[in-house]
This record gives sequence, structure tokens and C-alpha cells, in this order.
Amino acid sequence: MTLRKSGIAAAAAVALAFTATACGGGDSGSDGDEITIGIKFDQPGLGLKTKDGDYTGFDVDVATYVAKELGYKAKDITWKEAPSADRENLIKNGDVDLIAATYSITPERKEEVSFAGPYLMAHQDLLVRKDYNDVSQESDLNDSELKLCSVTGSTSAQNVKNEFAPKADLQEYGTYSQCLTGLENKAVDAITTDDSILAGYASQDSHQGKFKLLGLNLSDEPYGIGLEKGDTEMQKKVNDALRKMVEDGSWKKFAEKHFGPAGYDYGEAPEITEKS
Ligand code: GLU
Repeated sequence: MTLRKSGIAAAAAVALAFTATACGGGDSGSDGDEITIGIKFDQPGLGLKTKDGDYTGFDVDVATYVAKELGYKAKDITWKEAPSADRENLIKNGDVDLIAATYSITPERKEEVSFAGPYLMAHQDLLVRKDYNDVSQESDLNDSELKLCSVTGSTSAQNVKNEFAPKADLQEYGTYSQCLTGLENKAVDAITTDDSILAGYASQDSHQGKFKLLGLNLSDEPYGIGLEKGDTEMQKKVNDALRKMVEDGSWKKFAEKHFGPAGYDYGEAPEITEKS
């Protein structure tokens, strides 16, 4: 895969693979190899790097399942932070093999990368402070007084500018956790992005009773696994893994584990539609 090994490490990997084959072992030909997967590091419930350096969330479980189907053990995965604005470049530069980072499948992105999936259908929404009541419906959003926060390179920011609130005072930050700090400080009135992400922030222990989601359902955000453009073999393998994940009940298990505590209505697993 894309991991660049030193000559010695590469030779060791070959030797290892050879040994495994000679012994008749090895599960699917990826022995000694590693895979690098891009995730979010600051989105509880989806992709989070914990204080102890562990990785947790729905995207992490989905990616770990997919990697296993591709022949990689959990210990063979290197997690790399994939901020919204960097995702296409991380794939194009070969810095990651796959991305599972609340990554909506869009026609524009498909000019640059390919996707497998989708594996979750989220919807754009707003998160506000509990006592904030100036916005209650979509038609309230296109207001130059309204300070919205979203993230550079996200469909959420794009939708605000091009679709439902071109007049709003949109602040674009690098991550949603930066937006959250802005919301706590009252630097902004609302954060707008996928309801799945916002529900995760609202339900964190330290945020109990502070924020509310408005439930506006502003868009469909089908999450895909990003991969190198035109790699139809990888796309098929990942699609097969995602299908199996739904069929054997793992999808439901992961969704309940990560979204249940936040009370997020994750719906049904969407139909897998990406193909070359
Ligand atoms: N799903 C949306 C996107 O891919 C918003 C979440 C994000 O920025 O990761 O742009």
C-alpha cells in the first residue's frame, strides 16, 4: 500500500510474507503490510483520538472492519488525521490509503477521488446554545446578523454559501471543535454541519445541558470511504466489506454503540451505490 518502507523493513516484510506463505499461514496476503486510514481526531462518536492515544467512534469501527476484510489486523492500521479541507489531497498524495472521516460523497469530490459506500446518511443541522431562540427554521438562516461557524472544505460551509444562507455571517474554521469553542465563548451563534457530528458534541459529559440541535434536516450527507480515483478494485473490495458489515449485524452494533448514547437517530444503513 502507500506506506513507504525503508529497504530493510521492506525486505523484512517480504521475508515475513514468504515465511507465512511457506507455513501455509497468512489470511489474505497482506502479511507484514500496513494500511493508513484518514479519520477525524476531534469528533466524538465518529472519529476521536482520546487522551490515552486510542481511537474511537463509528468511522473508526467501520474503517477497522473494512481493513480487516482487506486483510489487515487492527494493529496494522495507522490512523492519520484528515481535516475536512485536506481529504482529497491526502488521498491524491498517497498519504493515506482510505479515508473514513464523515466524508460526504459529492460529484465535485468525485472529480478528484473515488468513494465506496455510502455507509451512513447524515443531514446538515445547527447546534446552538440552549437559551438561543433566534433561529427555528430554515428561512431564519439567511440573515446577515447570524454568525454561523463551519469548517473550510466541508459541504456544510459550501451549502451555507451556495444554498440556504448566502447572506449569513459565516466564519470558517479548521475544525468543528474550534467552532465549538467559538459557540461556548459566544463568538458565534451556531455551528452548522452534519447532525451526526453535532449530536456527538452535545452529548459529551462536559457539555450536558449546554447546547441543542435544531433538527432542520437541511441536506443529505451520504458518508463514503474515500480512495484513490479510479481504483475500482479497491472500491469493489471496500463495497463488499461494507455490505458484509451491514448483513452480519456489525453496522447496527457500531451505530448503537456510538450514536445510541447521544440519542442520534442514525436511520437505516443506506444502499451501497458507488461504482465505477
Ligand atoms: N459531511 C460533510 C463533509 O464531508 C461535513 C462534515 C465534515 O466536514 O467532515 O464535508
